[in-house]
Amino acid sequence: MKDTKYIFVTGGVTSSLGKGIISASLGKLLQARGYKVTNQKLDPYINVDPGTLNPYEHGECYVTMDGHEADLDLGHYERFLNVETSRANNITTGRIYQNVINKERRGDFLGKTVQIIPHITDEIKRNIKLLGTKNDYDFIITEIGGTVGDIESLSYVESMRQLKWELGKNALCIHLTYVPYLAAAKELKTKPTQHSVKALLEEGVQPDILVLRTEHRITPEIRKKVALFCNVATEAVIESIDVPSVYQVPQKMREEGLDKIVLSKMGMPTDTEPDMKEWDAFLEKMTKATKTVKIGVVGKYVKLPDSYKSIIESLIHACAYNDRKLNLKLILSDDIDADNVQKKLDGLDGIVVAPGFGNRGIEGKITTIQYARERNIPCFGICMGMQCMVIEYARNILGFADANTTEIDPNTTHNVVDLMAEQKDILNLGGSMRLGGYKCSIKKNTLAYNVYGKETIKERHRHRFEFNNDYKEQFEKAGLVCSGTNPDSNLVEVIELPGKKWFLGTQFHPEYSSTVLKPHPLFVNFIKTVIS
Ligand code: GLN
Repeated sequence: MKDTKYIFVTGGVTSSLGKGIISASLGKLLQARGYKVTNQKLDPYINVDPGTLNPYEHGECYVTMDGHEADLDLGHYERFLNVETSRANNITTGRIYQNVINKERRGDFLGKTVQIIPHITDEIKRNIKLLGTKNDYDFIITEIGGTVGDIESLSYVESMRQLKWELGKNALCIHLTYVPYLAAAKELKTKPTQHSVKALLEEGVQPDILVLRTEHRITPEIRKKVALFCNVATEAVIESIDVPSVYQVPQKMREEGLDKIVLSKMGMPTDTEPDMKEWDAFLEKMTKATKTVKIGVVGKYVKLPDSYKSIIESLIHACAYNDRKLNLKLILSDDIDADNVQKKLDGLDGIVVAPGFGNRGIEGKITTIQYARERNIPCFGICMGMQCMVIEYARNILGFADANTTEIDPNTTHNVVDLMAEQKDILNLGGSMRLGGYKCSIKKNTLAYNVYGKETIKERHRHRFEFNNDYKEQFEKAGLVCSGTNPDSNLVEVIELPGKKWFLGTQFHPEYSSTVLKPHPLFVNFIKTVIS
């Protein structure tokens, strides 16, 4: 068994500093040196998983191939490392407590008082170590959500303290802070960093490496000052300056020597360099592209772009590989109606109709689809977006004026999208959707087949409702092609309209599988057609 190394990434001063990107970038650099690496996220909230959270609370809910509803940072990890994550890569406080309480009820701790230390911390440590030992990883990079000093993250920091003590050289802590620039004083200020390291020290952890997020260059004097006040070596003070794209961060971290300092602190060789050829080739394409392509994403959560993180990143990947720059328009579907649709969607080269839940913004999505279909504007419907394509076709082509999904109208006489039988008796809303990877058979001589180039694919799902097969024949007679179906359940997974420039909907979420080195073929083909 390998001597797995554990790297913890904590954050201080403010949230949203980009711990996920720094963690993923370090993971990328270590992987590019030939190591087997995975990233893990510990989330301090009590929800068992983020599946029941509104995207406005926490951004997109990401889904792993093994059917876990996960924090969106797992999306960064997969996009950077090009390796699938699993439910073991994202743990929440809720899940830790649930496990401990289940064990207590089972009698595992019989006779003992169950406490935060050692029972909760032991369960956290078990979940961190398990990922390493089970999969033979060289490195586990564990990001602790939230900001150091928060009540919620105390037990995670305590677990990290214990692991650092137990594992010695095989564990280290990278602390990410913010160095604000005071325009009036024309100065970068290090005091918040000092305070944040102090907060970590109060919890018993001396960080080994500091990453300073900044909008201005960190001078050698500032590095020295931070090193002196925070008990770290000067070369362990790393600058993380803002860059135009998150995909440039690995490059920055490499220039700053983050991977090297990690390796030397862990007693590993540093005489080789990471092989970033393919990554750099992507960056080259992305940054050299000058022609733009204007894509509208129509959805109900557009006020927080993180709600559509994976879709946006998939479009960025696809544009780069097509030598284009993405000009993204996020358009609120609530406001779209027949009178203003032309104005709202004017000038778009292509339209993505986003996933979603509930009533708000649905009619706007359906109006968008009608507009795109009638004007032959390339249109890509994802999950709820595909369901809206089905509803639109039923209303305007099959003539079922009240056609709907029973999610919106349980009494519709034309339930073209309906609950699956096995979903009808489910009462709990958490973790009970159709989740994760399912096989799909692709019909030959279709756009989907042309894109995938194979008959069987596997894509990730997150939904309760489905295309209602009772209407399949009528749809197909009217020209809609069901080009992807689940081979076991016969559920329709892909629909398309032949004769259109590009009009396709997927019940699954291809956006979760697009990575920098392996962009998703549907997005790549969509953009390719849009610009042709
Ligand atoms: N609300 C729809 C369903 O549950 C679609 C979900 C989605 O878009 N992810 O089937």
